[in-house]
Amino acid sequence: MADLEQALAEVAAEMAARGDRGEVASYIPQLGRVDAGKFGIAAATNDGRVLVAGDAGEAFSIQSISKVFTLTLALGEKGDALWKRVGREPSGNPFNSIVQLEHENGIPRNPFINAGAIVISDVLLAGHQPRETIGEILRFVQFLADDETITIDSAVAASERATGYRNFALANYMKSFGNLHHAPEMALGVYFHHCAIAMSCRQLALAGRFLANGGRQPSTGHSVISAERARRISALMLTCGHYDGSGDFAFRVGIPGKSGVGGGILAIVPGVASLAVWSPGLNANGNSKLGSIALEKLAKMMNWSVFAP
Ligand code: GLU
Repeated sequence: MADLEQALAEVAAEMAARGDRGEVASYIPQLGRVDAGKFGIAAATNDGRVLVAGDAGEAFSIQSISKVFTLTLALGEKGDALWKRVGREPSGNPFNSIVQLEHENGIPRNPFINAGAIVISDVLLAGHQPRETIGEILRFVQFLADDETITIDSAVAASERATGYRNFALANYMKSFGNLHHAPEMALGVYFHHCAIAMSCRQLALAGRFLANGGRQPSTGHSVISAERARRISALMLTCGHYDGSGDFAFRVGIPGKSGVGGGILAIVPGVASLAVWSPGLNANGNSKLGSIALEKLAKMMNWSVFAP
């Protein structure tokens, strides 16, 4: 097996030199302006090492990766009752598809498509004002990464709201089925803000450690969530974490991962490490093009797979 530090450096150097880097998301100007030449990668291991390469210290918009953290919070608060309001099946559809919702009576397929994450935001709102829930999510992410400097990019959040017609449609549609308990704009206020959290690869890898370590923060031993729930969140990442490219990511990389349109991916090697990669250019499914390739290479070099002994 390769040395992890060396493997990260090798992958980062190879990715920095590649020409075809995919298309940067442009549905809001804040994301469209990001330099497609960036590439960062980080690993936080269960034995306490944090190894980085490339632009791993630069903050980017984590977008849908935040759905892993809101799901963790909502499961902690609601327990298995959560599954009455959101499913656990891959969607096979783009992240913002509305068609399936009609067939399934307003119950989103899984917590990682937009509709599912909007329901999770609604769950987290119970008894709170949107501002309080947004604060709770941010503090949770700061706690996980052990870093109070993590912030929400308010310009990104404002643009998400200004252009979020489809997300408004999803929320209103679910409200009509009774699967939103608050006003759609309240749930969306929470959703747009958690998508706009900005983090570096280093911070993101640190924040994911509990998933690689049976639900516990390895540095402090604090329990974030039960070991069983941590396993289940990872299972959802594997089956649903890459929109309708989830099957391909599982096939190629073989470990759970959650991507975001900002070009980041959080990936988990159970029992070993939490990984974060960032390259803003996306492939046809809206997942980081070089990020996916880099994780495939790294997993191969390190012999990491949830399907291997
Ligand atoms: N905020 C984005 C949206 O709702 C999230 C996209 C993503 O990363 O999947 O359109």
